[in-house]
Amino acid sequence: MKCPFCGHNRSRVLDTRDSGDGIRRRRLCLNCNKRFTTYEQVSVAVHVIKSDGRREPFDRTKLLNGIRMACAKRPIAMDELEGIVGQIEEYVYNSGQAEIPSTVIGNMVLDRLQDIDPVAYIRFATVYLELPDLNSVRDIIDKLVGR
Ligand SMILES: [Zn+2]
Repeated sequence: MKCPFCGHNRSRVLDTRDSGDGIRRRRLCLNCNKRFTTYEQVSVAVHVIKSDGRREPFDRTKLLNGIRMACAKRPIAMDELEGIVGQIEEYVYNSGQAEIPSTVIGNMVLDRLQDIDPVAYIRFATVYLELPDLNSVRDIIDKLVGR
């Protein structure tokens, strides 16, 4: 999504509103700091394929709630979480695919949380990757600390 003022292609989503038949986003250009609004309409339903093979429609609210839980009581602004969900949603609807594996989405969330907050990252990984025991949690922590 290019900034209409300077053409820069990176912006941050400040606010997302569901207006019933579409989604309106307030964005902040990361280059010139001007704000603009984009309007997005969903023309195809995108489904997420879970690890057990079940399919369900992509649901931004559900995704946001999952990320919020992982970030509970961490010093992360709601803006930041909205931004992550916004980027993933953009990917999902612009990928041209009707079905996206849930692992792709989970890994996108992990990538971003890793940069933002290591504790939230581990919480999300524990639930999302269904880590079976403490050793696998430790492996992840070791990787984080070793970076
Ligand atoms: Zn700009």
